[in-house]
Formats: sequence, structure tokens, C-alpha cells
Amino acid sequence: MADTRQLPQPVAEAWDWQLVAACRDVDTKVFFAPDAERGLRRLARERVAKAVCRSCPVVDACATYAVRTREPFGVWGGLTPEERRRLWSIDQARTA
Ligand code: SF4
Repeated sequence: MADTRQLPQPVAEAWDWQLVAACRDVDTKVFFAPDAERGLRRLARERVAKAVCRSCPVVDACATYAVRTREPFGVWGGLTPEERRRLWSIDQARTA
């Protein structure tokens, strides 16, 4: 059996924001694209996801988490993966 005593303990406060997320009861398919999804179908799904995010009380915490962790998939905090990549590019350019 592995000795897990040296591993960092979970920090519940870092995840508490998820307890009140507006997407808790929404199908994850709304937020995450199937492999072959493209074009208008993708835009339509992302529009629905973003509408859920607009009503979410923790949208800022969610967006901050996704940008900071460079989450590569799904709509988080009302931001698509492409929108987050643009933010990362701006951040990289600023620190270069
Ligand atoms: S901002 Fe969107 S993805 Fe993030 S917790 Fe809220 S509803 Fe879910």
C-alpha cells in the first residue's frame, strides 16, 4: 500500500466555489465538446454553456481557476478554450 502521508492534503476552500455552481445540475455535454464537433454546432453548444455561466454566482472564481490552471477543455467561467488560449497568449507576451 502506498504511503500517502507525504502528499499535500486537499484544500477544500480552494474548491468550495463549485458547491454553488450553476452548472451542477446541467449535463456536462453542454460544456465539453465531443471530438468531432465543429462550426455552427459547436457555437450553438458554447452559446448555451455561456448562458448558464452568465447566471452563475461563481463565474469569476471559475474563470480565474481555468485561466490559472490552463484548463484546455470545455467552457469554464463563460470562456471557451479558444478564448482562454488568447488570454494565455496575452499573458505570455506581457511577461516576455
Ligand atoms: S461559471 Fe459556468 S462552468 Fe463555471 S461553475 Fe459557473 S456555470 Fe459552471
